[in-house]
Amino acid sequence: MQMTKHFHLSEFTRSGMAATLGIDQSNPPPAVVERLAAVAQALERFRALAGVPLRVHSGWRCQQLNRLVGGVPASDHLLGWAADVSAMGLPLEAFVERLRAASHRQLGAFDQLIVESSRGVLHASFNPRFRGEWLRQDGGPKSPVSRYVASQST
Ligand SMILES: [Zn+2]
Repeated sequence: MQMTKHFHLSEFTRSGMAATLGIDQSNPPPAVVERLAAVAQALERFRALAGVPLRVHSGWRCQQLNRLVGGVPASDHLLGWAADVSAMGLPLEAFVERLRAASHRQLGAFDQLIVESSRGVLHASFNPRFRGEWLRQDGGPKSPVSRYVASQST
């Protein structure tokens, strides 16, 4: 199912880990599909700002998969409000700086954007509580999360 011009539902449901473990992620509940469509709309804006296609590393996760990948129990991935993305051919920090250079209007409403440097992805959540938080998490899942400050070393 094509959700927006550049994003297909399967990009948000496929998982190498799920396939390996025989977890069926192919039929998300309708409410999850609706949320993922909103996420895809938001990611179209991010894609335009990045200037390159985005790769979705992880989108929706069922409970079982979320536990196995070490996701937090209240993860927005469970509800279909979040996706972990990278920009093709762009280092993570460069992708992030392009987003941060954008106006609020260009970027649109978001809940949390977490720069996960160890995984090389941006966790982008669009839960409609829309807190607008920029955070970073450098040590992988369950490591400390801090406010995002642009890196000086790159
Ligand atoms: Zn995530």
